Order: sequence, then C-alpha cells, then structure tokens
Amino acid sequence: MASQSELLEAKRAVQYFEIPARSILNRTKPNMPFRWTINPYRGCEFGCKYCYARYTHEFMEMDARDFEDKIYAKSAAAHLLRQELGRIDRKDHIAIGTATDPYQPAERRYGRTRSILEVFARERGRYLGITTKSDLVLRDVELLKRVAKGNVLGIHMTITTLDEKLARLLEPRAPRPELRLEAVRRLRAAGICVSVFPNPIMPGLTDGERQLDRLARAAHDAGAMSFGGGPLFLMPTAQRVFLPFLEKEFPDLVSRYREMFAKSAYLGREYKDALEQRVRRIRERYGLASGFIEYRPELWIEEQMDLWSLATSTTTSPTN
Ligand code: SF4
Repeated sequence: MASQSELLEAKRAVQYFEIPARSILNRTKPNMPFRWTINPYRGCEFGCKYCYARYTHEFMEMDARDFEDKIYAKSAAAHLLRQELGRIDRKDHIAIGTATDPYQPAERRYGRTRSILEVFARERGRYLGITTKSDLVLRDVELLKRVAKGNVLGIHMTITTLDEKLARLLEPRAPRPELRLEAVRRLRAAGICVSVFPNPIMPGLTDGERQLDRLARAAHDAGAMSFGGGPLFLMPTAQRVFLPFLEKEFPDLVSRYREMFAKSAYLGREYKDALEQRVRRIRERYGLASGFIEYRPELWIEEQMDLWSLATSTTTSPTN
C-alpha cells in the first residue's frame, strides 16, 4: 500500500557551499533608510515566491530557482567586518538581511550571523537593523541584548499574513506566522526593540484593510513597537517565479498582475498612495510607530556619566 501511495512532495535536497567574500559591508544607493547592508549568505532556503533577491543568483549565472536550493555561506564574515567597520561613519545605519534571511536554516550550521553579532557586541554607537522571518533569532537573545546595550538595535520581523495556508503558499519553508509572533513577544520581553513589517504587501492577496488591521493588532498585542510596509515590486527575475506561481494557485489574479507589471517592476503612484494611507491609518489605530526606533543605549549613558564625572572633578579642582 505504502509503495503505491502518491508522493505528496518530492524531497528537496538543499546544497550548501562556502563562498569567499572580498567584503561584507555593501554600500546602498542613495535614498535608502540605511547606508550599508550585510548579507551573511547568498540564497535563501525559505523560498518566498515574491522574493526580489533571486537576482543575486543570476549574477552568479544560475537560475533564479537555484536561489532557494543552493545556499552560499560567506567565509570570514566576522574578520572582514572587523576590518571594514573602522572605515565607516559610526552614525551610518547598517541593515542585516536585505537579500537573504540571516536566520534561515543554514545559520544553524554555519553561524555567520552570530559571528557578525559578536563583532557588534564589542562595538559602541552603531545603528543596526536585522530583518528576518525566523524564530531562530531567539537563539541569540542574550547576544542581541549585549549588542543593544552599546548600539541602537532593531529587529524587524516580516509577517506578510496571519493566514497560515496563504503563508505556506507564499513562503513555503519559512516559519509559521504564529512562531514569528511568538518571537516578537519574546524579544520584547527581553527588552529588545521589535517591529513587524508585512512586506511586501501584495495586491489582492495581503493588502485588504481587515487583513492588515488584524496583523497590526496581533503585532501590537505581541509588543511590537512599529508597523509599516510597502507594496510588492517584481523585477523580471522575480516575475519568472511569481507569475507561474499565481497561475497555479491564484489563476484569477494572473491577468491583472501581468497588466500591473507589464511596463514596470513597480506599482503605480495611485495604488502606492492609497496603500500608504491605509497602512498609516491602521498603524495609528494601534499607536504604533512607522519605522526604526531610536533610543539611548545603556552603555552610552554609562560612558557619558564617566566622562561627566571626569569633567566635574576637573572643574572642582582647577589647581590639580
Ligand atoms: S525570507 Fe527574504 S530573502 Fe528569504 S526567500 Fe523570503 S523574501 Fe527572499
């Protein structure tokens, strides 16, 4: 009987490689909310259907679909970071995980994200954001607390939908939305600043007022401090995966999507404005901020106090 049953899903074989990196800090284009990015891996096993980062595998002359099956861990990431940090302005914002998930399964094996955080734990006065869909981030809570004491740290948890079935279709191997919310709860309980971002917001799939409202309320109840998001964009590489996915799972949406993205990877101004207003209205309903939370890290204050005591001892003993 067992040998005659239908194979529900062919077992995927993910391959892992090590890739030499010349540098680990990458400068962004102007007008981005952060100046530098760090991506400890190339490729991402979570395999989100809308993922824009598939182009990083095309750069290596690979198929966009290889992005989720061939994962490259960057070698000597922490060593490079130690060398490169000295060359950049301390106030520059650094984003970890803009073209890969820093807490995807490969992180259990390679620990590249952890090695990078260990470098930041010895830093002072940096501005750091980490974007993830994974509750594996909880492994590093103690380390993140150390980073957040000397630097301004924000964790941005991406949750596109609370609908588990839809999430499974869109993000087949990412942790369930409930696990991500639980990670938000536990990070906040540890005193770490956390945001929830429903990125990318997809027309007809995740952009409904009620869906976004439900998500913002759940984010607020879990302790998230900010909530925001922007619309889907689909570069040609991403379209090659997303449109066939729609054809299979949401055939009614295909022609509208083809029309929307026929001339540009970006949606029109009218849709963007309407979505922005919707997200703002919902965010304000729950008293959530719109982005990165700035705060005074504990160690800055301690170090300032030390200097202050030196200054006062100098002024009160002018003849010393
Ligand atoms: S988690 Fe992020 S990087 Fe990974 S596949 Fe999904 S969208 Fe791409």
